[in-house]
Amino acid sequence: MPIRRRPRRPTKPERIPPRAARLALTPQPPRAVQLYLGVELRRTARRIEQAILETVEPHVERFAAPDPEPKSDAHVDAPPPYDDDPRGVISSVNDMVQSILDDYLGEADKASEKAAERIVTHSKREFGRLGIKLLKEEPSFKRRIKEWRKENVDRIVSLSKAKVDRVEVLLKNKAGMRVEALRKSIQESVGATKNQASLIARDQVLKLNGQITQARQEAAGITEFVWCTSNDERVRGRPDGLYPDAKPSHWALEGKRFRWDDLPKIGPNGERGRPGEFWGCRCVPYPILPELEEKGLG
Ligand SMILES: [Zn+2]
Repeated sequence: MPIRRRPRRPTKPERIPPRAARLALTPQPPRAVQLYLGVELRRTARRIEQAILETVEPHVERFAAPDPEPKSDAHVDAPPPYDDDPRGVISSVNDMVQSILDDYLGEADKASEKAAERIVTHSKREFGRLGIKLLKEEPSFKRRIKEWRKENVDRIVSLSKAKVDRVEVLLKNKAGMRVEALRKSIQESVGATKNQASLIARDQVLKLNGQITQARQEAAGITEFVWCTSNDERVRGRPDGLYPDAKPSHWALEGKRFRWDDLPKIGPNGERGRPGEFWGCRCVPYPILPELEEKGLG
């Protein structure tokens, strides 16, 4: 491992190259893998969504209020004829979801395995593009990838459970609603998570990519990096952006220098973390190359 010489002068913010110069030398996220895993996870999520809707559909009428006879606002004195105990329906929905999960989670896991391989390759290519030599003896990502595949599958499972929970709440609270309205609410609430699978894919890919980037940069003797946000309106804490009050602010870290072994407290509960680590984080690390540092260009 190359020994870092003491810089000729202490680190000052102005020694960090401007953003545009930095970006050209910053590893780019694996967008193609995000899309690939997104398509795969969405497919499983959609199958589950269909199964839920198909299983609930024949029962919706039972939970809905009957059509009033001639249009009138007169209220009905008799007790409502509808059912308000969705336990039976929910239990058959759960059985159906479970069988879908049994059938298709293997596919989500296979897709995750392939995605992980592609992330590892992408990161290697990015190191090549940046001209950073990787060691022949690479750090092992096996254990991390195994955990990561399980996380992907677990997140699809929780997504499905959340959908069933929402149907249960709707059947309970909206019992007595007119049938079209109830059906529409159920469809909306089950379908609302359609994009959730894509977000899970993006988040998971950026997280694994961030971990591999750190491991490889450290193995290559890079001890420090500059935090680069994606600089758009969605960056957390950007004063003129969409989330000006987000805490902790990622915007505040833009252009700041950090050591890999002393990461900033950037998690939702103040946990330390690397760029890309926490939900939706699209930040990337600009590596401070020891050779450039020696020439005063770092
Ligand atoms: Zn971020």
